[in-house]
Amino acid sequence: MVQGATNWNTELTQEWLQNYVDDWVSFYRKHTVDGNVASYIPILQEANRDHLGISIVGKNGMTIRSGDFEVPFTIQSISKVFSFIVACMGRGLSYVLDRVDVEPTGEAFNSIMHLEMTQLKKPFNPMINAGAITVTSMLEGRTSDEKLEPVFQLLERMLDYRPHLNVDAYESERDSSMRNRAIGYYLLETGYLESDLNITLETYFKQCSIEVTLEDLARIGMIIANDGEDPNNKEEIIPRQVARLAKALMLTCGMYDASGKFAAYVGVPAKSGVSGGIIALSPPRVRDEELPFVTGCGIGVYGPALDDKGNSIAGIRLLRHIANQWDLSLF
Ligand code: GLN
Repeated sequence: MVQGATNWNTELTQEWLQNYVDDWVSFYRKHTVDGNVASYIPILQEANRDHLGISIVGKNGMTIRSGDFEVPFTIQSISKVFSFIVACMGRGLSYVLDRVDVEPTGEAFNSIMHLEMTQLKKPFNPMINAGAITVTSMLEGRTSDEKLEPVFQLLERMLDYRPHLNVDAYESERDSSMRNRAIGYYLLETGYLESDLNITLETYFKQCSIEVTLEDLARIGMIIANDGEDPNNKEEIIPRQVARLAKALMLTCGMYDASGKFAAYVGVPAKSGVSGGIIALSPPRVRDEELPFVTGCGIGVYGPALDDKGNSIAGIRLLRHIANQWDLSLF
């Protein structure tokens, strides 16, 4: 049974928090039956619908892992955060923001409709497919591998290892993703693509197919929470201004057309992907009482059963519960 409100002033030891999180994961695992795994990318159907896992990494190094935290998965739309960061670092913020806006859409992540309705405007934001494909076209390099190299380098700097590309996932999306091709052609017609269409789409499908674990997402989230600085060695990995913009975009646009509700009820920057992964983060917060992870943390959640918006159904509920229990909300 999930516990009621707790006085966190008592003991914030890892073991104490771990017990709570274990309890919450087994409670919310039952909610996976309310969702379905994604099927429009055939390989994603192979995921186990019952999986639910979480990893939380604090700025002070405290780490909590629970449930199916060891299952690797592809980052899908979570990659939109990384390609945006890399494009801003390579091209400069104003170059990128001249070509993609920072406004939530209220439409599904793969919507074409709003592009057509606002024909003369740039894509709404880098967290939906149209904006992300535009951002990917801005990555420097002639081939998809050249374009992705700085994305891999960024991830490697944060994780101390180089994540790999899941080639089967890449091929599965490449061979099935007609809607993204349609978005690509539309962007080509309206003049927003900065690179060849096929190379841009190949790069986009590959960035979505980078494989990670929850601990990777939690660690990256923790660095973004810390304004782009790795607290272990004080190294600036992402310029502060870019990290802040990424957080704002995650908060306002990161959960597709459920972003408003997520901001209201969970209240932390987050980005989800149709594989069932979510990266979330809690920046340092000032409160009168002692609270778990008060100096900031990154959170990775994985639960491939999705709701009708394409977000992990049990993952969102678990995150909401933890955010409420630990007072993680920014508001
Ligand atoms: N690769 C997926 C797509 O473009 C990513 C979408 C998602 O995670 N929402 O359709």
